[in-house]
Amino acid sequence: MPQVYSAPHVLEQVSLKPYNTFGIDVAARYFVEIDHLQEYVQLVREQKYAHVPHLFLGGGSNLLLTKPVDALVVKISFSGIEVLEESADFVWVKAGSGVNWHEFVQYTVDHHWAGLENLSLIPGTVGAAPMQNIGAYGVEIKDTFDHLEALNLETLLVERFGTAACQFGYRESFFKHAGKGKYLIASVCFKLGKKPAPQTSYGAIQDVLALKGISNPGIRDVADAVISIRQSKLPDPKDIGNSGSFFKNPTVSAAEAARLQHEFPGIPSYAVAGSTDIKFPAGWFIEQAGWKGYRSGDAGVHVHQALVLVNYGHATGAQIKELSEQIKASVLAKFGVPLETEVNIL
Ligand SMILES: Cc1cc2nc3c(=O)[nH]c(=O)nc-3n(C[C@H](O)[C@H](O)[C@H](O)COP(=O)(O)OP(=O)(O)OC[C@H]3O[C@@H](n4cnc5c(N)ncnc54)[C@H](O)[C@@H]3O)c2cc1C
Repeated sequence: MPQVYSAPHVLEQVSLKPYNTFGIDVAARYFVEIDHLQEYVQLVREQKYAHVPHLFLGGGSNLLLTKPVDALVVKISFSGIEVLEESADFVWVKAGSGVNWHEFVQYTVDHHWAGLENLSLIPGTVGAAPMQNIGAYGVEIKDTFDHLEALNLETLLVERFGTAACQFGYRESFFKHAGKGKYLIASVCFKLGKKPAPQTSYGAIQDVLALKGISNPGIRDVADAVISIRQSKLPDPKDIGNSGSFFKNPTVSAAEAARLQHEFPGIPSYAVAGSTDIKFPAGWFIEQAGWKGYRSGDAGVHVHQALVLVNYGHATGAQIKELSEQIKASVLAKFGVPLETEVNIL
């Protein structure tokens, strides 16, 4: 017999402070936590909350809330990790969109399934990972992504998206553009390797491995190296509110890169695979413009990471947004480079 799901209980005027890593204290007009996709479908069918937009929330680690949220905030808590298929070389692993991303990565590492280890300790949920094709230390989820299942909010049918349909780019996907606001991502499946090929091209990973005397690392060694690097470099949202990198690293044409390299000798840069474009670290521009460690009230720029804006306690989202705009204007004026925001501002 198919399981019958009833619409879950919706709360009113709920503080979102515990639900966003910036720790911004604004209220959601309505709030509901959903454990199964069918609960959400039931809620939509009942049409009681059709008069407000619905905002899906994972771990709230890529959000800046600048005002009370006049919406039904739907906290996605779909659980479960499942092996769909196995071959001699690969395993296809699917996880519910509410599964904690870091716990999922550690699960795959513990099972000796390779491909996600460099993405250890990124906050948030599995379901939000494809939204911006999360990436770190030379790896993006598109490298091991197989498919996802998402609820089409118009038809209430579940659709399957392969890699091409997701249109992944640098911190980009279909779901941030043409698909924005049209889908609820329900689960994500990755194709992971049974024969590990650790990706250790990042200097910081090599340094940690060398320090530990590891010359032939396994995926657990790489995951542990990434965890220790991140713990030493990035502020933990439990201690200081933040959403990781606030801006994307700007990618510019070869001609524009030549101008920057001529005017600012020593500027760090990276080649972009398959393109003549060049990527520059946004944090370098922000630091050179004098913002590193800046603080105004409780809104600030992290003392060690200029790319990370922080809430020292009681900053409002509007104050952090205002600071981000001042930084953008100052980087544009000094370097002629427009910065793009990575965090979703609401
Ligand atoms: C300390 C720190 C370090 C970070 N480091 C990195 C990093 O190295 N690399 C990186 O890429 N990111 C990084 N991030 C950003 C963040 O962790 C990722 O973007 C993460 O994937 C966000 O997941 P979340 O569940 O918290 O999403 P949320 O912030 O809850 O949501 C983000 C967006 O996705 C939407 N959404 C969430 N779940 C769903 C769903 N199931 N269906 C449809 N839409 C949904 C939301 O509506 C929102 O628009 C970092 C953040 C922090 C705080």
